[in-house]
Amino acid sequence: MRRYLFGMVAVLALGWQGLAFGAEKIPVVASFSILGDIVSNVGGERIAVSTLVGPDQDAHVFEPRPADVAKVSRAKLVVINGLGFEGWMARLAKSSGYKGPLVVASTGVKPRQMASEDGHGHGEQIDPHAWQDPTNVIEYVKNITEALVRLDPAGEAEYRNNAMKYTVQLQALDAWVRAQYARFPAEKRRIITSHDAFGYHGAHYGIEFLAPQGMSTESEASAKDVARLVQQIRREKIKAVFMENMSNPKLIQQLSKDAGVTLAGELYPDALSKENGPAKTYLILIRHNVEEIVAALGRN
Ligand SMILES: [Zn+2]
Repeated sequence: MRRYLFGMVAVLALGWQGLAFGAEKIPVVASFSILGDIVSNVGGERIAVSTLVGPDQDAHVFEPRPADVAKVSRAKLVVINGLGFEGWMARLAKSSGYKGPLVVASTGVKPRQMASEDGHGHGEQIDPHAWQDPTNVIEYVKNITEALVRLDPAGEAEYRNNAMKYTVQLQALDAWVRAQYARFPAEKRRIITSHDAFGYHGAHYGIEFLAPQGMSTESEASAKDVARLVQQIRREKIKAVFMENMSNPKLIQQLSKDAGVTLAGELYPDALSKENGPAKTYLILIRHNVEEIVAALGRN
């Protein structure tokens, strides 16, 4: 018995040492929760990802705190979406003294331009919400993989294997989304959300998304825009409008009242849900959004 116990203690001690010395994970910072999940899928066990803008939080109006400065200063790699989404990142990186690589995950994605809608804007504005098209996320995965391989060449085989498996899941997701929308005729494919976050999704799958607010939650919806949208909802007999997990629901609640249409629940445009919510990973988030959208299209 004593010998058996001694053996157990030795094994435990060795196991503990193995953990302590073998599992030094590389600290990586991702700018927002959806991107953090994508980075985790590529990095797997070799990295420890922390995100700046967490679940249910709005990256458009994010203000970094001292804890965020500390996270960035400890990071070996920082990953952002790009396309103008993280206007606050340059200053944050500077104040943290971060000197490592800054990976723009959307590099190579075809940017979607949109006429500025704030009433006094000129020319075009770039839409940052490229992740709402899963085929764009396949590009994100390539960029993240190359960055991790450069940073940690010993992990190359593992990163490439993780990326391959995740890409297969993204391709399957894309095919699934297409199949969900296939049964709706073109004239019924209209959805109202509060800010203009589904442009890439709509362009890829042939759904038209209308929103009283522009591409950033920072911009205010004008009374004129809201009135025009109410007219359109009535004219085109659109049956449902959506709230968003990270936006103020007041505007869309008012819109649903004015237009006399159903408030159809919540979409997840720019942030995951918390762990116990309906959109805790990117793959689950897209499925959730599409299921909600399909239910609303069924009422049109
Ligand atoms: Zn947004």
